[in-house]
Amino acid sequence: MTEAAATDIIPTSTCGIIDSHAHVVKEFFAEEQEDVIARAFANGIKHMVNPGVVVGDLDELLAIKNKHEHISIALGQHPHEAKHFSAELSDKLIEAVQSGRLVAVGECGLDFHYNNSDRQSQLRAFEEQIKIARRFSKPIIVHCRDAWDDAFSLLEKAGGGEVSGVFHCFTGGPDVLPSIERLGFYVSFSGIVTFKNAKEIQAAASLVQPDKMLVETDCPFLAPQKVRGKRNEPLYVWLVAEKLAELRNCSLAEIAEAASKNARALFGLA
Ligand SMILES: [Zn+2]
Ligand SMILES: [Zn+2]
Repeated sequence: MTEAAATDIIPTSTCGIIDSHAHVVKEFFAEEQEDVIARAFANGIKHMVNPGVVVGDLDELLAIKNKHEHISIALGQHPHEAKHFSAELSDKLIEAVQSGRLVAVGECGLDFHYNNSDRQSQLRAFEEQIKIARRFSKPIIVHCRDAWDDAFSLLEKAGGGEVSGVFHCFTGGPDVLPSIERLGFYVSFSGIVTFKNAKEIQAAASLVQPDKMLVETDCPFLAPQKVRGKRNEPLYVWLVAEKLAELRNCSLAEIAEAASKNARALFGLA
């Protein structure tokens, strides 16, 4: 059965938009995967970045990328899976980066909210992946939850000022923006910014530099307020952009244009 997407509540702009973080994989979308992708491209999504969460995702991601010119892929080991990150997986990741098919390393990072992997494993896996990004001059997609200080110091130490990247699905407030700015990183907002109680994230969204702002769905998770509780999909990135336009007191087209330009710059998209 097909879950009908609420296209009628989606504001769009003719300039199009990029979903900088969308897990459009079989595990989440099953036989609707291609419908969801087609619906996004038919409604102004110009490009999407599909990051792996375990190194073993590579083959599936490559298959998706080979099928769709406007889907780019990244590969990393998510902090939830950090305890399984081995020297062997690190080598596989390096090999994938060297193949030239990835636009970034990630997602990777630290999640001290859920602690699905112990903190030591998380720190070790993140450090290793920062080093890989640095060695091969790739941007890094960072997942950071309740671990700001550790993330900043690891990025400084292992990145040595040579790694660019994005804090995806941003859950921080204005207080962490100066550190992110110092690193020269981007901030990507997801459906969370549309939630009624997300006051800190909304405050940050109104302050972040226009040339450092991205938008994403992080689908299938975190559907925006207007479709909350439904399965999220790339189409709904427009609802994130709509909220940013409201918070930043500008037009939807301005947000879409800036976020797309920033995503192209960060990931080196054509
Ligand atoms: Zn994440
Ligand atoms: Zn993600």
